[in-house]
Amino acid sequence: MQFELTGRDAEIAALAKQVGQDVLQPHAAATDAGNFPAQNLRALGTTGLLGIKIRKEYGGLQAGNVAYVAAIRELAGVCASTAVTVAVTNMVGDMIQLYGSEDQRQRHLPQLTSGQYLAGSFALSETGAGSDAAALRTRAERDGDDWILNGSKMWITSGDVAGVTLVMAKTDGTKGSRGITAFLVEPGTPGFEIGRHEEKLGLRGSSTVALSFVDCRLPDSARLGGEGQGFEIAMTALDGGRCGIGGQALGMGYRVLAESARHLEARKSADKTLGTDQNSQFRLADMAMRLDAAWLMVLRAAWLGDQGKKMSREAAMAKVMASEAGDFAAKTAMQLVGAAALDARHPVARALRDVRVSRIYEGTSEIQRLVIARSLAASV
Ligand SMILES: Cc1cc2nc3c(=O)[nH]c(=O)nc-3n(C[C@H](O)[C@H](O)[C@H](O)COP(=O)(O)OP(=O)(O)OC[C@H]3O[C@@H](n4cnc5c(N)ncnc54)[C@H](O)[C@@H]3O)c2cc1C
Repeated sequence: MQFELTGRDAEIAALAKQVGQDVLQPHAAATDAGNFPAQNLRALGTTGLLGIKIRKEYGGLQAGNVAYVAAIRELAGVCASTAVTVAVTNMVGDMIQLYGSEDQRQRHLPQLTSGQYLAGSFALSETGAGSDAAALRTRAERDGDDWILNGSKMWITSGDVAGVTLVMAKTDGTKGSRGITAFLVEPGTPGFEIGRHEEKLGLRGSSTVALSFVDCRLPDSARLGGEGQGFEIAMTALDGGRCGIGGQALGMGYRVLAESARHLEARKSADKTLGTDQNSQFRLADMAMRLDAAWLMVLRAAWLGDQGKKMSREAAMAKVMASEAGDFAAKTAMQLVGAAALDARHPVARALRDVRVSRIYEGTSEIQRLVIARSLAASV
């Protein structure tokens, strides 16, 4: 058993760390101010990090989940807005690789991995379908060899900038989650419209929009996987995605841990550095323990995926622990650093805003707990 990254996983983590410093860091403040990081994504397109698990023939790095979570952690420590855009792009690419026809792979994967598309997006959530995703109402109806898509989606990361959007729609209203089918929709398709941009607390450089489909005609070749397979595709995407969100939250958590430790060494109070104060030491230790415990859980889930084993429960556990550890670390760091961290541009202030959503998107902490409990009930 190894407790450190090895081989290609370590190389990809090191690559992401370098890219974070060289490419993301110079734009991190401007991105946090609300500018979509297009230049970062184009640069990432030359590194393979937009398709970490995608095969080399399509421009990816052909690595696994462990490399993926390690890379997302490194990127998120510098710019979480870029990291989430990269994470969703990877997720969409993974689903096209896994469920797509050779034509669909050739059509989309080289553009996704090279940054020509800037991003991929994943459209499951709707006004009335967040945690209860199977309640979605967007529908696709057959019209000869085509499909006609009608409905709307909410909270879609990169929905306005993506070269391809993976859309889940009901194709059979009588079959519940088994009546959902996935489609690949390209920008410019008549009837595909971009709606409101969300003004968010954090991840302000990541674009989050509503989408609508009004008699949007798609050829059958836009269908990803079989009819009725859309919910399975979405849940498979989210298993991997949840490990990525874990890595993302911990990237921010470890960043604020480092910022706090630096601050405590530099700042004096009553003729002593704050780092010699036992209360501060205990708080740092608590942050480090929670972050490390969560990181081991993220690695376990990612590793299970790399062994081809089921990891839904472990990914759910890892996401809860990592998002809550990252959130705890950001709040603790804010208190340890004090007023300096209240400056909206301070890395701790940014992490506090950016990390919060980790406990909500790709399934809230409550929904993860339901996934965990149900899988425990099923295994006894
Ligand atoms: C910044 C951002 C980016 C996003 N990007 C995407 C994206 O790219 N694609 C996409 O499809 N979606 C995206 N989402 C949507 C996200 O996945 C949903 O917000 C999430 O699934 C939760 O849904 P909801 O916000 O509607 O909360 P709700 O489902 O309304 O839940 C509200 C509260 O009730 C609790 N709750 C709900 N049901 C239960 C239950 N059965 N038992 C116990 N508690 C429950 C929840 O845990 C939560 O605390 C994004 C959201 C945000 C904020």
